[in-house]
Amino acid sequence: MAEIDTLSDFRAEARAWLEANCPAEMRQPMTSEDDVCWGGRHFKFTSSAQRQWLERMARRGWTVPAWPKAYGGAGLSGDQAKVLTQEMRALGCRPPLQSFGIWMLGPALLKFGSEAQKLEHLPPIARGEIRWCQGYSEPNAGSDLASLATRAEDMGDHYLVNGQKIWTSYANEADWIFCLVRTDAARKHTGISFVLFDMASPGVSTRPIQLISGKSPFCETFFDNVRVEKRNLVGTPGGGWDVAKYLLTHEREMIGAIGDRAVAKPLGQQAADALGLDAQGRLADPVLRTQIAEFEVDEAAFRLAMDRVGDLLRARQAHPAMSSMLKYYGAELNKRRWELTVAFAGSDALEWESERSGQGSIARTWLRTKGNSIEGGTSEVQLNVVSKRILELPES
Ligand SMILES: Cc1cc2nc3c(=O)[nH]c(=O)nc-3n(C[C@H](O)[C@H](O)[C@H](O)COP(=O)(O)OP(=O)(O)OC[C@H]3O[C@@H](n4cnc5c(N)ncnc54)[C@H](O)[C@@H]3O)c2cc1C
Repeated sequence: MAEIDTLSDFRAEARAWLEANCPAEMRQPMTSEDDVCWGGRHFKFTSSAQRQWLERMARRGWTVPAWPKAYGGAGLSGDQAKVLTQEMRALGCRPPLQSFGIWMLGPALLKFGSEAQKLEHLPPIARGEIRWCQGYSEPNAGSDLASLATRAEDMGDHYLVNGQKIWTSYANEADWIFCLVRTDAARKHTGISFVLFDMASPGVSTRPIQLISGKSPFCETFFDNVRVEKRNLVGTPGGGWDVAKYLLTHEREMIGAIGDRAVAKPLGQQAADALGLDAQGRLADPVLRTQIAEFEVDEAAFRLAMDRVGDLLRARQAHPAMSSMLKYYGAELNKRRWELTVAFAGSDALEWESERSGQGSIARTWLRTKGNSIEGGTSEVQLNVVSKRILELPES
């Protein structure tokens, strides 16, 4: 009972603080990728409200509420962090900061990093000062990631890194990279190490790759004799695969969460705005009405599944492969959401460069969602994991 009281006290306190501190502009649904605050040395805030919202939340430790205070968080319990998320959702508050540092590197450092690494890297992530990118995939190592060939040669006090990564999201905008390198050519999984380095280091270069959406959110990334200090090795030499796998479970949960509409308007509401209602107050198009109703039921079920996995995680009872389940379904749901959006937006969704269409934001986002079932491990790979590790089916 005492715990429930404390939690409801926390809820009231959180709501009051959010109401007083979240600028009105930051309570509007995000309409495009440009509304996301990624932070970092080069980030340009779109408004003073966006900057203020980040600064206020970071000061309170609420950009990473469950991280310990010493590392920039607020030290909230899992239940308190869940309440905070619920209250932010209820008020329509945008996430103040999104980053690979929060979603991926942070959890990995909390588990595998040294105290010095945590103190050096976690607070700047929490404050949105340093933006990270992920150097995993290579031209010949995607689903079979352990085939990676980027070499890190042991030079005594440092490593010399040579090789190439590919599909490195935002490599040209990131400040630092967490990177998988090969420190032992004779061992496949146990020859991989996990290192961190500054993207401004001599020998690092990036070449953006154009996507079908017309944007270039990711790059080829090249390393030519890049010096990496040994203090930037996370875990042990050759122990990088364990760090990499742990980080991937967080990446998959993060990508799965795109299936959850967060602060955007419900799809049925958006469709009603675009198509209007019939005499009975229902969506005017009967075919889309059925499809959107099915989608919204699946979306609600997915949100409940996400909540359930969150509760299991807090109780330390979650199956480690559940992140694959969420990643698979969240990606499929997000693709369906944008197929339906294109359908009800009609010819408006085909505009590409007009101001009216926000430079083709519907068409570009729809095309971007095609990558959801590839990034963070393909849908086929997630289904393999689910069939093997959750359903315990025999390997073919
Ligand atoms: C938008 C986007 C952002 C990305 N961002 C990053 C990033 O920031 N950092 C990074 O390191 N990487 C990133 N990636 C790369 C991503 O992780 C890889 O594309 C992905 O792991 C697949 O690897 P691949 O492209 O080499 O395809 P492959 O592994 O060559 O797969 C090709 C096809 O074969 C199928 N396949 C492969 N193996 C199996 C199997 N065992 N069983 C059944 N089917 C199989 C796949 O499902 C796929 O359809 C990103 C990718 C995208 C699309």
